[in-house]
Amino acid sequence: MNVREEFLPYAQPSLTHRELEEVLEAVRSLWWSRGEKCQRFEEEFAQKVGARYAVSMNSCTAALEVALCAYGVSPGDEVITTPMTFCSTANVALHLGARPIFCDIDPQTGLIDPAGIEPLITDKTRAILPVHYGGQPCDLKEIYAIADKNGLVVIEDAAHAAGAFYHGEPIGNCRDAAAFSFYATKNLATGEGGMLTTNDPEVAEKARVLSLHGMDKNAYNRYQEGGSHLYDVVYPGYKFNMGELAAALGLAQLERLDQMQATRRRYAALYEEGFASIPGIKTLRQLPERENAWHLFVIQVDPREFGMDREGLIRFLTGKKIGTSVHFKPVHTMTYYEEHLPQNPVPLPHAEAFYQTIISLPLYPSMGEEDVQYVIESVREASQLDAK
Ligand SMILES: *Cc1c(COP(=O)(O)O)cnc(C)c1O
Repeated sequence: MNVREEFLPYAQPSLTHRELEEVLEAVRSLWWSRGEKCQRFEEEFAQKVGARYAVSMNSCTAALEVALCAYGVSPGDEVITTPMTFCSTANVALHLGARPIFCDIDPQTGLIDPAGIEPLITDKTRAILPVHYGGQPCDLKEIYAIADKNGLVVIEDAAHAAGAFYHGEPIGNCRDAAAFSFYATKNLATGEGGMLTTNDPEVAEKARVLSLHGMDKNAYNRYQEGGSHLYDVVYPGYKFNMGELAAALGLAQLERLDQMQATRRRYAALYEEGFASIPGIKTLRQLPERENAWHLFVIQVDPREFGMDREGLIRFLTGKKIGTSVHFKPVHTMTYYEEHLPQNPVPLPHAEAFYQTIISLPLYPSMGEEDVQYVIESVREASQLDAK
């Protein structure tokens, strides 16, 4: 068995001299908290995704919570989301005293199934929180139609979707709000960071105030020349704002996003082509009228056809020095959710079965085409093992 020498991580940020230049400039400026780079990053990000407003945060989780709060989600409310997501999508609803209600997924895409949403709506429902799973935009037309009919807001968890398009429109140019993640593994990375985008000036203003202690809007200028030491607090807000060093990374990464996305698309196409000829390995269904941001490349293992189960393949790939991950263990199966939440109004069989089959493979612009081929050939090798 031929094993590569160096471990191939499942994700890694992409670094060039541009990130170093921007960060050095920020460090040397001695303005390390929210400042000019944060502001410029917001303007350029808003422009990139076609939204009128972007508010930078220290995480996507923060942006999701601020969005829910800005739309007035409060104790007793219900928020409909998908179980096939990172825990924070649902945790933020709990922080505000609201209850996440889980809607099952389409087992071919991992995306929330719009047909499952309407039966979950009650007089307590305030918001729908869909996730663009893996970077593929979910069925926004259907979801917004349901929201319109029932007077709900839609807060898109766009953690995977920087660089994604839906019917030609960038994700982020949304009716209500979208939350992006710039966590170290994400398509655009600032280490820790996030962004809320919206076209609603009132929500943008509220989000800005909420993310900075609830201080009135000019408070962050209070240390600048001509700034005033006087500020007011209009809400017991959060300390969720982004800092200059993260924004510096963000500016450089944003400049390079199109190029990084082109590489992700190319690698995803190679994976799709490679796995098409391996029995028992399925790739996710790609829906029409959208451009996937390819944050994740997820395969589904059919143990009977493949001859090995998901855990077996993960172990085999680890032996081949290939890093993998699983996105996600459904949120409703996490201990806190099982022990403290009332039973979900509907069972979630698709999410639970989907979880048993999935593996996320390495996909990022700083890996090479030969790494992609090595992963494909390693999976093929596993499928051909005699001792299965
Ligand atoms: C990464 C992720 C988040 C959280 O992002 P942070 O920036 O780490 O807060 C939220 N939702 C999904 C689907 C994610 O993958």
